[in-house]
Amino acid sequence: MQGFRLGSISGFEIRVDLSWLLIFFLVLWTLSAGIFPTNYPGLTNTTYFGMGIVATLLFFASLLAHELSHSFVARAKGIPVEGITLFIFGGVSRTRMDAETPGDEFQIAGVGPLVSLILAALFGVIWYVSRNAGLSVVVTGVTAYLASINLALAIFNMLPGFPLDGGRVFRSIIWKYTGNLKKATQIATTGGKWLGYLLIALGVWQMFGYAILSGLWLILIGWFLYNAAEASYEELLLRTSLQGVRAQEIMTPYPETVNADLTLQELVDKYFLSRRYHSFPVTQDSHPVGIITLNQVKDIPREEWIYRTVRDTMTAANNGVTARPEEQMSKVLQKMQDSGIRRVLVIQNGLLRGIITANDLANWLQRQKDIGQVV
Ligand SMILES: [Zn+2]
Repeated sequence: MQGFRLGSISGFEIRVDLSWLLIFFLVLWTLSAGIFPTNYPGLTNTTYFGMGIVATLLFFASLLAHELSHSFVARAKGIPVEGITLFIFGGVSRTRMDAETPGDEFQIAGVGPLVSLILAALFGVIWYVSRNAGLSVVVTGVTAYLASINLALAIFNMLPGFPLDGGRVFRSIIWKYTGNLKKATQIATTGGKWLGYLLIALGVWQMFGYAILSGLWLILIGWFLYNAAEASYEELLLRTSLQGVRAQEIMTPYPETVNADLTLQELVDKYFLSRRYHSFPVTQDSHPVGIITLNQVKDIPREEWIYRTVRDTMTAANNGVTARPEEQMSKVLQKMQDSGIRRVLVIQNGLLRGIITANDLANWLQRQKDIGQVV
């Protein structure tokens, strides 16, 4: 997982994606050089900067509270949550599985916008009280901003496009009334794609009105939403189609292997340069011992290729990258996602039977589509 660790709250690990630092400074700059000086003229630059720092930190704390609420409800529903990664448009809870019932999903998704709404009301009350008490615009300015940004967050997140919270709530409602998760996901992700188109169109329209920066923002968010909606549906399609399917039906049988004692230079010259594969199973005395990928080789400085061996560069077989031929694909898929190299070796009685790569999955799904098994 990319990004760096910020800390941990109630056992949830909080990580920050690097894109977030950029957003932090962009928000800080917009507030202390744009919004605050325009709305509350006559203060010093230091004051604007101080207001900007406080407002930006509290804005990000609000986002964190929103994400944490999803994690707490998910954990209460028995779904293991590893932690939260905050990234460019807010954050995601890193869960190992999806909600099992529409009711669970409704609550897990719905609590986030609810928390944003409560925060908006809270900051609104502080703003109202401090204004009536005649406090300085330093206080009322910051609280007015936090009330409106949390309200905007609540509204945006409740839009009915998957994977936004509102799209998840929307999906859980269709899921409840049709009993069909796949159909519900299809409708909710279509909502997500249309919402993406709409935001892009709105952004283009804004740019024609010379609101370049906010136009660009809308286009970026719309594009992101469109892609996320599409990816969510493809992933669900793959997962539901793979139900009951076993590893041996997906694998490429008896793939070409490489010897663990080869140097990386020999591996590149004899295999990667002359074959179309991006990875090879590694064997020792005709027993499978690991997988080597082209990316792993590329991470090693070129001058070390002549003495580094395949064995000390590969992912070893005992690192969760093996499966049995009769193993359920739902479990194998999880291993592929966890391993970081997105491949598993299929092994029976200590001998290599096959390999499963992302390509094998894509080909299998395409064949199912061609035959008409998957719509
Ligand atoms: Zn949310």
